Amino acid sequence: MSTATGTLFTISAPSGAGKTSLVEALVALVPGLAVSVSHTTRPQRRGEVDGVNYHFVEPASFQTMLAEGAFLEHAEVFGNYYGTAQARVQERLATGSDVILEIDWQGAQQVKRLMPETCSIFILPPSRETLHARLTGRGQDDPETIARRMAQAVTEMSHYVEYDYLVFNDDFERARDDLATIVHSCRLRTRAQGERHAGILQRLLA
Ligand code: 5GP
Repeated sequence: MSTATGTLFTISAPSGAGKTSLVEALVALVPGLAVSVSHTTRPQRRGEVDGVNYHFVEPASFQTMLAEGAFLEHAEVFGNYYGTAQARVQERLATGSDVILEIDWQGAQQVKRLMPETCSIFILPPSRETLHARLTGRGQDDPETIARRMAQAVTEMSHYVEYDYLVFNDDFERARDDLATIVHSCRLRTRAQGERHAGILQRLLA
């Protein structure tokens, strides 16, 4: 990965914090960001499109990819498997594009270990009540699932401290702008700038 010139971002949040909508708004606002499409064994939800929201695969196919070392990171979340196929991500980074991984804390830890220059961001809801209301309002899951997800959310949220940046989604536009500021800031880090503008630096220091 040492030849990569793009910046890699991981964005995590508890279920219901508004991460997916925020990332969509971020990508619409800031040019040059691509969101990686994960593989998952979880069933497709109403409105989700295969190849757009996720690559929906059978557990056996997921295991084959895992055994072949096709994943940059993977994790089991809510009893289903999720993973980021590394070929596409590395291809994009190598051409200088920036990539966002919307992944859980387990995956973010793996990516940070492999690629310490990754810019990691955690999104939190402003309160427990908001989180619960958002999980209920989604209307796609039964009460048992929502209760389980609330408990999981607390576990997920306890990992916020491992991230480089923390965003509170109390006001949508404000949170989106915070994400844009973080992206700009990470793009301007010395290492990223040094790789992007190696030629200029070489000429300046000649
Ligand atoms: P959902 O099934 O609600 O779309 O996602 C459940 C959780 O899995 C979320 O926390 C989401 O960020 C996480 N997730 C989605 N794709 C990946 C992935 O490729 N790797 C990992 N580690 N987590 C993922």
